[in-house]
Amino acid sequence: MSSPPQSVHIVFVPLLAQGHMIPMVDMAQTFASRGAVATIYTTPVNAHRFRTTIDRSSKLGMPIQLVEIPFPCEEVGLPIGYENLDILPSPELLTKFYDAMGKLQEPIEKHLRERTPAPSCIISDKYIFWSSETAQRFGIPRFVFHAMGCFPVLSAHNVKHSDCLDSITSDLEPFEVPGMPKGFKITKAQLPGNSVRRQDFEVFHGKIQEAELAAQGVVLNSFDDLEHGCIEAYQKVIGKRVWCVGPVSLCNKNESDIFRRGNEASSDAEKCMAWLDSMKPRSVIYACLGSLCRLAPSQLMELGRGLGASQQPFVWVIKRGEGDSELENWLMEERFEERVKGRGIVIRGWAPQVAMLSHLAIGGFLTHCGWNSALEGMCSALPMITWPLFSEQFVNEVLVVDILRMGVRVGAKVPVRWGEERKVGILVREDDIARAIHALVSEDEEGEERRKRAAELGEKARQAMQEGGSSHSNVSRVLQYIMAGPTQEAV
Ligand code: UDP
Repeated sequence: MSSPPQSVHIVFVPLLAQGHMIPMVDMAQTFASRGAVATIYTTPVNAHRFRTTIDRSSKLGMPIQLVEIPFPCEEVGLPIGYENLDILPSPELLTKFYDAMGKLQEPIEKHLRERTPAPSCIISDKYIFWSSETAQRFGIPRFVFHAMGCFPVLSAHNVKHSDCLDSITSDLEPFEVPGMPKGFKITKAQLPGNSVRRQDFEVFHGKIQEAELAAQGVVLNSFDDLEHGCIEAYQKVIGKRVWCVGPVSLCNKNESDIFRRGNEASSDAEKCMAWLDSMKPRSVIYACLGSLCRLAPSQLMELGRGLGASQQPFVWVIKRGEGDSELENWLMEERFEERVKGRGIVIRGWAPQVAMLSHLAIGGFLTHCGWNSALEGMCSALPMITWPLFSEQFVNEVLVVDILRMGVRVGAKVPVRWGEERKVGILVREDDIARAIHALVSEDEEGEERRKRAAELGEKARQAMQEGGSSHSNVSRVLQYIMAGPTQEAV
C-alpha cells in the first residue's frame, strides 16, 4: 500500500447488477489498496456474494467496508430477495426494481451522517442518479461510473448529440458514428438503448442525464492504451475529467478471491479447473455469455451443437435460468455431455470466469462482449469470438474485432432484447459458431497475428495497473482531485 491519504473517504454506490457491481467492488478495492477509506453500499443478497472477499481485505488492514441496507422489496411490490437484475425473471419488474433502488437513498444518507471519517466523494453508477443529490447535501463531489469503456460511452454520446440518425430509414442500415477518433459504422438496431423497449423509462433517463451533467467527473474501468483517443475526445465534449482506472479485475491477487469473484462458484467449477490442468496450453475455448441475457433454448442448442461440431475442446457456461427443462431434456436426449466427454465440460450456474480465463489451457473466449467480459479476455491475452446480444455490446464488438483486431464475429446482426429471447428465436446457427471457432484457432498468418495482438494488449493492460502505469497514475490523480477540495479547474 502506498502513502495512505487517510482523510479521503470514497463512498461507492453500485447498480445491483453483476456487470456493474463486480467492477465497482474491484474499484473500491483498488482505491482502498491505495489507502483511501472505501465504503460500499449494497443490499443483503448482494452483500452475501462479496462478503468473504471484503472481510478478508479488511482483516488484512485495508480500509474497506461493505454496508448492507435492506432492499424494500415488499414496499414496492417485488418478491422478497429480488435484489439483483440477474434474479429478476423479466423486465416487467424493472420499474419496481428501480423504485426500490431509489428508496435506498434515505437510509444510505442516514448511515453516512453517522459514519466516520466523513465522506469526501461519491463514485456511483450512472443509474444511481439520486446520489447526485446526496453528494450535494454532503458538499462533496460525485463521479459517475459507467460500467463500460470510453469507446462505447463516447459513441453513445455522439450519436445522441448529433443528427446522424435523421436520414436513416432502416434499423439495419449501417451509418458512420460521428466524432470518433477511429471511425466505424453500426446500425440503429445495434445501438445501446435497444435492449429493453420502455416508454416509461424516459423520465428515468432524463434524471440520469441531469445527474451526469451535475457530476464533477467520470471514472471508467478501462485503460488509456485501449481507448485510442476516446478519453480526450469525451473529456472535450462533456467538459469534465475522465479517468480510466482499470482493468480493475487485476486488483484481485488472492486465488480464492479470484475463484469466488462476484458469486459462489458452481460446484462444477472445481472439477472443471482440474480438467483444465490436464489440457494442452491454449487449447480450450471458454464460452460464457454474461450474467443477464437468457437465450431461448433453441438458440442455446445451436450453441451446444456448434461447440460440439468445432471439434475443439471447450467449457460451456449455462447460467441459472437458462438451464430450464427444455434445454436439460435436449442435453439428456442428445447424450451431449457423454458425447463430448474428455473434450468438453458444461458448467451450470456461476463460473469463476476470471480464474478460468487466466488458466493456461484456455486459448479463446466466446463472449457476448459485455464490457467486463471483453476486458477480462484482454487481460488474459485471449483472442475472442464475439456474439453481442444487447446494450453496448455491438459497439464493443467493433472495438475487439475491427479496431483491436483480436476477434472473430459469429455474425449476430440484431440484438436479443431482454424478455424477447424466445420471440427472436435463432439468430446464430451452429455452423456460424463452428466457423468462428475454426477461424480463431487457425494457425494461419491471420490467426497468429490475432494471438500476437491479444498478447501485446494483455501486457499493456497489466502494465496500466502497475506502479507508474496509466491507471495506477489515474487513481493518484483522482485522490489528488478529491484532496484538493471543491475548487478545481475545468478540463
Ligand atoms: N461472470 C462470472 N461468471 C459467470 C458469468 C459472469 O464471473 O458465470 C462475471 C464476468 O466475469 C463479468 C460479469 O460477470 O465480470 C459480467 O459482466 P459483463 O459486463 O461481461 O456482462 P453482463 O453480465 O453485464 O451482460
